[in-house]
Amino acid sequence: MFGKNSIVGQKFFNGRDDLMVVSRFMTLQGEGPYRGYPAFFVRLAKCNLACSFCDTYFDNGDWFTVDELMKEVNSAIVDHFGGFVPPYMAGEKKEAVFVLSGGEPMLQKNIKQLLDAVNKEFRYSQIESNGTVFTEIPEETCLVVSPKCLEKSGAPVRYLTPRAETLERANCLKFVMSADKDSPYSSIPEWAFEWRDKTGRQIFVSPMNIYNKFPRKFDEEYSTDNIKIGERSNVDEVISFWEEGLLDMKSNQINHEYTANYCVNNGLTYNLQQHLYAGLA
Ligand code: SF4
Repeated sequence: MFGKNSIVGQKFFNGRDDLMVVSRFMTLQGEGPYRGYPAFFVRLAKCNLACSFCDTYFDNGDWFTVDELMKEVNSAIVDHFGGFVPPYMAGEKKEAVFVLSGGEPMLQKNIKQLLDAVNKEFRYSQIESNGTVFTEIPEETCLVVSPKCLEKSGAPVRYLTPRAETLERANCLKFVMSADKDSPYSSIPEWAFEWRDKTGRQIFVSPMNIYNKFPRKFDEEYSTDNIKIGERSNVDEVISFWEEGLLDMKSNQINHEYTANYCVNNGLTYNLQQHLYAGLA
């Protein structure tokens, strides 16, 4: 999105019992506590922030009730495996992680109902949030909070502190890091270290990727009302670290090395976005 989305709050979803879904796809989880696991992703639409470096499309979607979405998930799994679902995904519980992402998924209603249904079918579930909005989720779902910065004129100014109930519930925090010393993304805020010391929970830190060009074929053509979830999920969403010319490799090297050293010096977990190296969405 690169900061061009229209910002919405929880009010946008008032009066709706269904969920606005951008896409759903089978992949592997690239980051955080389930990194490397086979994963089924559901991306929900809309966000209450517009981060200048955001590379995710989330502005448009289709509406699904929880039941309809679970049917859509199961039919997408069958399609992904070409009709033959491997045993690990066909048992009473699928041995994969279900990841509810966005946008900002906590904006929408019925998140708990959806995750309750998910937890009956998947061994693991995770929701990712920027921490500025909160809604109730099941106890067994892992909450990964990825704090972001307030931006002015497209430049980050300072970290937005997550809500108190979010920090209390968070299973881990996940930050992106830039080597640009003028950016608040060049360090982890003090409140995060205090949270880690108090809770004993983990902080993951990923180097920020710097792009030479917009990574998606998915833009105007795909952001109209005419495209449906199947096409949005199949459109070329893959951002590959190996695609020639896509990333500014010199800046990325600097960010990777800076972040690794920061992690060593501060006792944090270095977190590469593994899916980018695997050529997966
Ligand atoms: S909070 Fe996340 S999804 Fe929303 S604009 Fe920022 S990076 Fe993108």
